[in-house]
Amino acid sequence: MKKWLWGLISLVLALGVLGYAFRERLTLRLMRNVVARNMATNALDALPDGLHIALCGAGSPLPDPKRSGPCVAVIAGDQLYIVDSGTGSSRILSRMQIPQGEIDGVLLTHFHSDHIDGLGELLMQRWANGGNTAPTPVYGPPGVEQVVDGFNHAYAMDAVYRVAHHGNEVMPRAGAGARAHAFTPPEEGSAVTLVDQAGLRIVAFLVDHRPVLPAVGYRFDYAGRSVLVSGDTAKSANLQKFADGVDLLVHEALAPQLVEVLTEAADVAGRPRLAKITRDILDYHTTPVEVAEIARDTGAGHLLFYHVVPPLLLAPMEDIFLDGVEETYAGPVTLGRDGTFVSLPSGSDRIEVRSGL
Ligand SMILES: [Zn+2]
Ligand SMILES: [Zn+2]
Repeated sequence: MKKWLWGLISLVLALGVLGYAFRERLTLRLMRNVVARNMATNALDALPDGLHIALCGAGSPLPDPKRSGPCVAVIAGDQLYIVDSGTGSSRILSRMQIPQGEIDGVLLTHFHSDHIDGLGELLMQRWANGGNTAPTPVYGPPGVEQVVDGFNHAYAMDAVYRVAHHGNEVMPRAGAGARAHAFTPPEEGSAVTLVDQAGLRIVAFLVDHRPVLPAVGYRFDYAGRSVLVSGDTAKSANLQKFADGVDLLVHEALAPQLVEVLTEAADVAGRPRLAKITRDILDYHTTPVEVAEIARDTGAGHLLFYHVVPPLLLAPMEDIFLDGVEETYAGPVTLGRDGTFVSLPSGSDRIEVRSGL
């Protein structure tokens, strides 16, 4: 073997040994740099004026490593709203460097556990990060008072500890928890306006998630751009009415041919309760092809799937989930995952998508 090759191998080995010997010091230095950069970064600062959405949870109650519980962050100018807060949503927001202290409000579509079980953590993070002096407004149909009361009650001791430890200056007691803003659900065919401020209009409309009554979706309009978030629903003509001409349709979906595999496995495993549940859920969600029909019929500019059921654990399962979508809707389609980010800059018709975390 050539002399220079021996030299190179020796050098690589020596560097490896040195790196191992100093691994703690090197890691600390790396950590300093990364943490300093992260603490100085606010993902919203870099955004152009417009409407932007971040999936702070693209999944459902079933565990999927790429998709936490449902959560959609909507950024309109300098306003920040969160639609639903499933498991892990606060952590996804942190990883995306979306400042939870700046959340203006949370909008709940309905009160299934998977849509609210990250709410306690989200409210605490907003309080800790923002030092807000008023509780987080949480909007929802009737029933939201009960949900908010429950979280406030469960986190009351936590608030006492934190004020005692950090002081009222840093964590003002008055800013802990949430305040419910219940709205009367609109009739089919009409919408209720919840926010109309600094160019942003948020309306709620009924969807069809029976026996969950009422369940709503939300539409956001800002600077000539629009986004609709479905919440949980079977294919809904009412949603379709409010999705007309929307730039970005963010819609839930359940792939029956994949859920059927779960049902068969539950039957074979002798778990009839689970098999009944996986059969029942088919009737109050929308299939990917039905979602594509809505996107086609409303002329949506872009279709983003979220609340993806079931978990898609292998890449080919994503192809199976999307079977028939391309043939139905000619526009661009994104299968959401945690961290998917879509920008709709004002004064343009551009729709820019960044894939997930
Ligand atoms: Zn639901
Ligand atoms: Zn759900």
